[in-house]
Amino acid sequence: MKQIEQWVRPNIRQLKPYSSARNEFSGEASVWLDANESPFNEPYNRYPDPLQTTLKKRLAQQRGVRSEQIFLGVGSDEAIDLLYRIFCEPGKNNVVSIAPTYGMYKVCADINGVEYREVPLNDDFSLDVEALLAAADANSRLLFLCSPNNPTGNAFPADEIERLVIAFDGIVVVDEAYIDFSAHPSWIRRLDEFPNLVVLQTFSKAWGSAGVRLGMAFASPMIIGYYNKVKYPYNISAPVQRYALGMLDRVDDVYRWVDEILSVRSRFIEQLATLPVVGKIYPTDANFVLVRVDNAGALYARLVAEGIVVRNRSTVTLCGECLRITIGTADEMERLLEAMRRYTQNKK
Ligand code: PMP
Repeated sequence: MKQIEQWVRPNIRQLKPYSSARNEFSGEASVWLDANESPFNEPYNRYPDPLQTTLKKRLAQQRGVRSEQIFLGVGSDEAIDLLYRIFCEPGKNNVVSIAPTYGMYKVCADINGVEYREVPLNDDFSLDVEALLAAADANSRLLFLCSPNNPTGNAFPADEIERLVIAFDGIVVVDEAYIDFSAHPSWIRRLDEFPNLVVLQTFSKAWGSAGVRLGMAFASPMIIGYYNKVKYPYNISAPVQRYALGMLDRVDDVYRWVDEILSVRSRFIEQLATLPVVGKIYPTDANFVLVRVDNAGALYARLVAEGIVVRNRSTVTLCGECLRITIGTADEMERLLEAMRRYTQNKK
């Protein structure tokens, strides 16, 4: 049995968290004079529920977990940063991650003064499980696995992730920002089996809500308890909590959007494969596709000149001459394909 508490920074274990007015009294009342709010400008005059109780209850039902297994953050980026603050002593602890992967894991390590150990994926973007375990030592606290992975697009096999969750002596973070586009099941079903597992999800991708900044961490109640201790007291605003409750009533829309994105994605990939400028199209479980092209820099610049922005990933580990292309509407993808065809013709 893994002892999660031993990995928590001593100052955080001992931390007496800020107790807000809304923490100290959260019942029913008709006169609220406890939080130095204004009596004017309803409903914005009131502080939001610091623990987002109603939203978590709905989310718990929807995802098949318990409320006390959920942390809500200002994007999953907040959930990532707080893991460093909970578990990593600056200058002492380290974290292990794959390369290439989502850039914020390293940025948060740098901000927090924590060593970041990158283990390259194999050439086919598969996991090197042994190398990941070999990179860890007694000071390793977090292992980041992004699945489906950004920017490569592939999801990792469940048996390999499971081996890492079991063998890694620390917290394994499975970032599922793109899970809704994948046929792979979510790891949130396995939370009760693995007390060292943290699963990240977000409203920013399939849920079409990147602008509101709402991310989720699912984990054991003990880890969620530490999240709640360390977070800003009112991190999720009242309008965002209300908005998210509304979105949870629109699951059918979200499924429809995902279906549409997936069908646009397959048609786009078919068309892309016919272009001579395209060298390799990597398999994807996400709402984007990584493509190796003939001279990514030149093609990128040409597309920008036509008002089309993709992501140039050429300088990233294993991604030489690669562009990462988000799947937009059918029209947007057609505009991109036309621009790529023009680029090919002009080169002749
Ligand atoms: N994880 C991954 C893998 C991502 O690609 C992104 C955004 N690009 C995030 C997390 C951040 O999501 P959020 O908008 O919830 O902060």
